[in-house]
Amino acid sequence: MTLKKIIIAIDGPAGAGKSTIAKKVAASLGYAYIDTGAMYRAVTLSCLTAGLSLTESAATQMAQGIKISFRYEDGRNQVYLNDHEVTDAIRSLEVSRNVSQVSAYGGVRTAMVAQQRKMGKNGGIVMDGRDIGTVVLPDAELKIFLIASVDERAERRYKENIEKGIPADLETLKKEIAERDYKDSHREVSPLKPAEDAITFDTTGVSIEGVVEFIQEKAKKIIDKG
Ligand code: C5P
Repeated sequence: MTLKKIIIAIDGPAGAGKSTIAKKVAASLGYAYIDTGAMYRAVTLSCLTAGLSLTESAATQMAQGIKISFRYEDGRNQVYLNDHEVTDAIRSLEVSRNVSQVSAYGGVRTAMVAQQRKMGKNGGIVMDGRDIGTVVLPDAELKIFLIASVDERAERRYKENIEKGIPADLETLKKEIAERDYKDSHREVSPLKPAEDAITFDTTGVSIEGVVEFIQEKAKKIIDKG
């Protein structure tokens, strides 16, 4: 019997633990993992590198012309922009500061959503982002919306950055996360919000393993039903 390959959409604000959790859920099910935030970051990085002003038309043209791909290499998920590996470059402060502006443009979103739908169409995928359950893959069998307090999210990012050797300041991170939340939730196109049929999970004070297990159980029930 071949097991049904479902689509799992994990949405939520910055720092809610989406990517760590999504990666673990994907690995445990043998599914592919797609980080859609990395795609918007890659568009932003390519605009900045090209020295473009971040207007809608420039960013849209860039989004339509670049190829973003994910490859599993050396034990980690690597992000490629055309043929360049940009996994760490897309996490820079400059990209983080500008990505909400670029991702709010309708033209940029149309180009990214088309690529994301192609990646997700055969199932067997865990995709994380802001609008996966609402816009990109509204037929996903399992939709999870992760939230956590701003303080906890900033502390997680702080630890992550320090571990990676990226300079970080906790208060600055808090301010940036709150600003990004505001922009992502109030934009006109695909604002950050849970789908009506999403399960909202507050991860404040909950271990990563606890959240992963919760999602795995939900997924297994759906897969077993066939
Ligand atoms: O997930 P991450 O924090 O890396 O995402 C970076 C930014 O990309 C978000 O703040 C948001 O502006 C944008 N984004 C989006 N839609 C998605 C994923 C990310 O607009 N599906």
